[in-house]
Amino acid sequence: MNHTETRKPDFDFDNFTFGIQSTDRMLLASYQQGEWSDYKIAPVQSISLSPLAMCFHYGQTVFEGLKAFRMKDGNINIFRMESHWKRMNRSLERMAMPPLSRSLFMDGIAELIKMEADWVIDDPDYSLYIRPFVIATEKKLGVDASKEYLFMVVLSPMRAYYNKPLHVKVETEYIRSAPGGAGAAKNGGNYGASLLPQINAKKEGFDQIIWLDAREKKYIEESGTMNILFILEGKRLVTPALSDSILDGITRDSLLKLAGEAGFLVEERPVAIEEITARIEQGERVEAFGAGTAAVISPIESINYRGKSFATYLKSDAEMYRLKDMLTDVRKGLKADNYGWNQLLDG
Ligand SMILES: *Cc1c(COP(=O)(O)O)cnc(C)c1O
Repeated sequence: MNHTETRKPDFDFDNFTFGIQSTDRMLLASYQQGEWSDYKIAPVQSISLSPLAMCFHYGQTVFEGLKAFRMKDGNINIFRMESHWKRMNRSLERMAMPPLSRSLFMDGIAELIKMEADWVIDDPDYSLYIRPFVIATEKKLGVDASKEYLFMVVLSPMRAYYNKPLHVKVETEYIRSAPGGAGAAKNGGNYGASLLPQINAKKEGFDQIIWLDAREKKYIEESGTMNILFILEGKRLVTPALSDSILDGITRDSLLKLAGEAGFLVEERPVAIEEITARIEQGERVEAFGAGTAAVISPIESINYRGKSFATYLKSDAEMYRLKDMLTDVRKGLKADNYGWNQLLDG
């Protein structure tokens, strides 16, 4: 395909809603008779599937979310693409779906981004969101693992607006995932099941939910579709240890590594909700925030637990903002990339 074809998009980069606009092209590959085809890149188009296709019935769908950035020196960076490929394969494995080869995922996305390079504009608040996903396409109503799949990648422009600190509610009725379940996988069903509790919390005036562990409803797991981190006394970065009920977030991992370098004491361990509320009640400085690719960090302003509200530390000298800047600086090439996270497109 001809790389010079890319047209300058006729698109208002200053004023748009995330997620409803794709770029011009998409990637497709299909899995049949035990193998993935080569990928092809085509104009974004509707696809047609049989109503018997298994993705409509039993939830074999897996996705990823990563971003491309224009760096200070003009290069395009696909941040931690290899980590996203590995995680996608862990999700696929959990859902009894076939893995993607490194080249299908990484070369395919790199080629797609190269062709859509005009959509990666040079703007500090802008990124191009990359959504790879795999769906089961075999026609069959019996409950079984599909023998046919489709891998697709679509791209969507994203702008980081100021994100308003969140009022979150600790969810004490519903759970997101359980030991032995599929909470560590980015499969569609986890998100469908999280909508009702989320809508209920909104009705009560909260922006987001904090999920507790399924067994004891005592330990914090995540916040909405983000990992959750706390900074205690301005120097201890504390976050729930990973398990099969917590999504292994790449933003979380990046922040933990950068915080360690910057001299924070990093603690991955069980975090009881009552530890956090007790610390706040005793007047300790507690910062709380969600972490994920979309927003990097989402500051939490208050935590409501069983009807009582607890205010976190949010002043402009909060350490979470410093951590966020460290991560965004690595991605833009303004700070050393000591871990090989920046995956630059050649040529
Ligand atoms: C994707 C996701 C995250 C964040 O992962 P990142 O790799 O940082 O984007 C956290 N929790 C859940 C449930 C997620 O789906």
